[in-house]
Amino acid sequence: MEVLELKNLWEQIKGRLTAELPANAQPWIYPLEVTGYDKGVLTVVTGQLMGRDILRRNHYNQIVEIIKKVTQNPDSDFVIIYDESMAKTIKKENEKIQKKIETAELKEKAMENLSYMPSSNLNLKYKFENFVVGESNEFAYKVAKAVAENPAKKYNPLFIYGNAGLGKTHLMQAIGHYTLFKNSDIKVKYTKTEDYVNDFISNSRNSKDTIENMSKFNRKYTNIDIILIDDIQFIESKKKTMSQMQHTFDSLYNKGKQIVITSDRLPKDIPTLTSALCSRFEMGLMVELTPPDLQTRFNIVKKLANDNDLKYSDDAIEYIAKNFENNVRELEGAFNKVSAYAEVTGQSLTLDLAKNILKCDDNKDEISFSKIVEVTANYFKISANDIMGTARSQKTSTARHVAIYLARELSGNSFVNIAEFFEKKHTTIMFAHDKIEKEIKVNNDLSSAIREIKQALKVI
Ligand code: ADP
Ligand code: MG
Repeated sequence: MEVLELKNLWEQIKGRLTAELPANAQPWIYPLEVTGYDKGVLTVVTGQLMGRDILRRNHYNQIVEIIKKVTQNPDSDFVIIYDESMAKTIKKENEKIQKKIETAELKEKAMENLSYMPSSNLNLKYKFENFVVGESNEFAYKVAKAVAENPAKKYNPLFIYGNAGLGKTHLMQAIGHYTLFKNSDIKVKYTKTEDYVNDFISNSRNSKDTIENMSKFNRKYTNIDIILIDDIQFIESKKKTMSQMQHTFDSLYNKGKQIVITSDRLPKDIPTLTSALCSRFEMGLMVELTPPDLQTRFNIVKKLANDNDLKYSDDAIEYIAKNFENNVRELEGAFNKVSAYAEVTGQSLTLDLAKNILKCDDNKDEISFSKIVEVTANYFKISANDIMGTARSQKTSTARHVAIYLARELSGNSFVNIAEFFEKKHTTIMFAHDKIEKEIKVNNDLSSAIREIKQALKVI
């Protein structure tokens, strides 16, 4: 068993020992150090002879029961060794590992803070140099680069859209970095749509300072050269917010400033957007980011490994790339998990290690859309044909919406693909998905229905 795994296991067992053994056993638990776990046998060492004897004589059975419960291995056993110097050495080693983990966490935090540049809001990681180009994103990359070379001259506004985790924020911020690098006097502002909206709401609130606040707000968002507005699908439908956004857009556009917007869907598919804003967003160029192919995913993970100075084998990289297909954020997450483990335990990134940590099913059966339809129909006691049909009784509609929602959530496929399968317009698919997404937050029957269907699909 690997060091970290052992550490986790021991922490769980120790937690239970502390909770379940009687008070007179407690002083002897704390000094225990774990040394191994093999074929159900947990071995610990202590520097206290009396501790060993008390735990062994009086609590052995109870300890074994706890190990059984935690490891779910009915053949569990417990060995306690008394060895003062060994206990000391192992304690030191464990402390070292703990420190390494803490340092790694601290380093990550420090990086986050460092990379935060208050005036522009840009994250240092999101540069063109760190963006791996492949078929799925080449066009978007080239267009973004062209915009960065010539702000407001080429494509204005630039509208980048695509599913979550495909690099929209990254590419958008890369434009900011690039222009700032070429000319540090350029004023770049990155803002999440949500922050913009909240900022507007708090500044436009009626008070004796409203006028002053609003003029400050307007300066903040229009006295700049490049605005990067992220995730515009989160704009709220309030009239005032819309007309403010339109005002910001127009004043920048009319002054010849560059506007870059991202969204998880096309402007016309954002139901809250006014037609005036929609047509403004469609005025320039709209580019889509699609999920990267295997080669690109491979290159992304390889780059991460190189950037982290990690020793790796190509088959390990390939394993990660193969198993995380639809979302680069998840792909990175998987890599981070494995690399943290490799780093802390001083190993290189091998196929075995990746398999061990990620435990992806090798012949993972992709859940097919038809399986989702079948199981959902079953749950609602209707037929798969009903779901695929057009009948609109409440039960059938709900079942259909749920199937569409699950198709999206479980496959990460694009709305367009899902629409093709269900033979519906992709706007209908989006509507159904969004409806269920909202409703499960407030409707317990619906959320437990979805949980049960997922269980039947064996995804939870
Ligand atoms: P989105 O905004 O589309 O949800 P992000 O831009 O936040 O996605 O990207 C998610 C993560 O994946 C980020 O850490 C980003 O750096 C990384 N990423 C996405 N695409 C690429 C790429 N082509 N090359 C390298 N990293 C990428
Ligand atoms: Mg984003």
